[in-house]
Order: sequence, then C-alpha cells, then structure tokens
Amino acid sequence: MKYFTIDELCVSGSYPRLVVVPKEGTTEYNNLKNLIENMLDPVRENLGKPIRVTSGYRPPRLNKAVGGASNSNHLYGCAADIHTGNDSTDNVKIIESLLNIGITYDECISEGAVFDKNGNLVSCKWVHLALRPNNNRRKFIYTTDFKTYHPLKKTTKITK
Ligand SMILES: [Zn+2]
Repeated sequence: MKYFTIDELCVSGSYPRLVVVPKEGTTEYNNLKNLIENMLDPVRENLGKPIRVTSGYRPPRLNKAVGGASNSNHLYGCAADIHTGNDSTDNVKIIESLLNIGITYDECISEGAVFDKNGNLVSCKWVHLALRPNNNRRKFIYTTDFKTYHPLKKTTKITK
C-alpha cells in the first residue's frame, strides 16, 4: 500500500461515529487492501497527483445512514468514492487513468457527470471505483441525477 492506507478508506464526513476500521485478516480488510494495491495505487500513480477519499468501507449502519444501495460494494470494502480536489474537470482524469492502466474493474461510475454539447464528458463531482476479489463486471457508467445510471460509452471523448 503506497499512496493509501486502510484508515484513509474508513471515513465519513457526515457520520464519523458510524465509521468502523476492519481488523487485519477480515474479508473487509483484505478487500480494502486489494482495492488499494490493485486499483487505487496504480490509478494514483498514473494520475500523478493526490486523490482524496470521501467514502470507502461502510459498515451496514453507515451505508444505511448515507443512503447507499443495499448491495453496495462499499459494504464489503470493495469501493471508494474519490476526487482530486476542487477542480471537477480533473476528476475525469481519474477515469482516464483507470482506462490507461487497463485493469479489470468491477465499477467505474462518473457521479454528477457533466457533458458538453458534443456528448464529451467534461467533469464529474466524484468517481466511484470498485474492485472485487473476483467476478469483476466492468460496469462503466455515469449518473447526472444520482438516481439513474447509464452506460458511459468507451468511445466518449473524455476531455482534459
Ligand atoms: Zn460509491
């Protein structure tokens, strides 16, 4: 684990009291380690700039409190919501980095996506990245309303 720590992935801005840090050796811990070593660290390396984590592992009470999906990858330590800072156009570069490193991921969701009139993704509020220990589905999607999700075309020109 080079750029991220387990603790860094166990956070909540709104419900800090519901945060739980999984113990070493648990499934959740191992999933977080896999997420960091095989997804977040390589993406961060490719991106070349710091990435902030707003949500990672969510124990059931925390997931419920934030309105997470009942089968969310966050429940198992397999997902992280990340962004680069205040420049939302930079978040698109996180997606580019994921594609650059070419790993088999479970989910890449452009959250709060904004497109220009030509259909190019120009910014998003944050990126949800998920990696499972196996059976990764390569879901490449976006949401603009945080309720409905749509396929993000690989051919979508991601502008810098
Ligand atoms: Zn998420």
